Amino acid sequence: MAIQRTFSIIKPDATKRNLTGQIIAKFEEAGLRVVASKRIQLTLAQAQQFYGVHKDRPFFDELCEFMISEPIVVQVLEGEDAIAKNREVMGATNPADAAPGTIRKEFALSIGENSVHGSDAPETAAEEIAFFFSGLELVG
Ligand code: UDP
Repeated sequence: MAIQRTFSIIKPDATKRNLTGQIIAKFEEAGLRVVASKRIQLTLAQAQQFYGVHKDRPFFDELCEFMISEPIVVQVLEGEDAIAKNREVMGATNPADAAPGTIRKEFALSIGENSVHGSDAPETAAEEIAFFFSGLELVG
């Protein structure tokens, strides 16, 4: 499997509880390298655009309000099979279903406040990276 890049967000529930370093350690232990990172606070319009694919789901408004409630850390992670590897380290969307040792099992508060986002496919990874980072900010 070739070296890939994926997009990650450390969500408000985790930045608020000062878990950024512990979450990054999980990525690094899994062989993922942080090649871009910044701490930002989304506007409502930006959150709605980013999660546009979920706009008709019942949790959309709550999700967007949550995502703007505190700063987030957006990152690009690089490594072999990075998209799948990141999803594995994150664990299932609902922490109740997440495997032991995963970020969501250890840190997530609920299915909504679940500490991390990670791209689910090469196309979404490319789109999400471009949404938050310019080429100049990516240092491989
Ligand atoms: N989410 C939620 N309620 C649900 C399903 C999802 O609040 O019933 C939120 C949750 O924060 C999740 C995000 O919406 O991480 C995106 O959902 P998706 O199904 O894409 O899960 P993910 O890819 O983040 O595991």
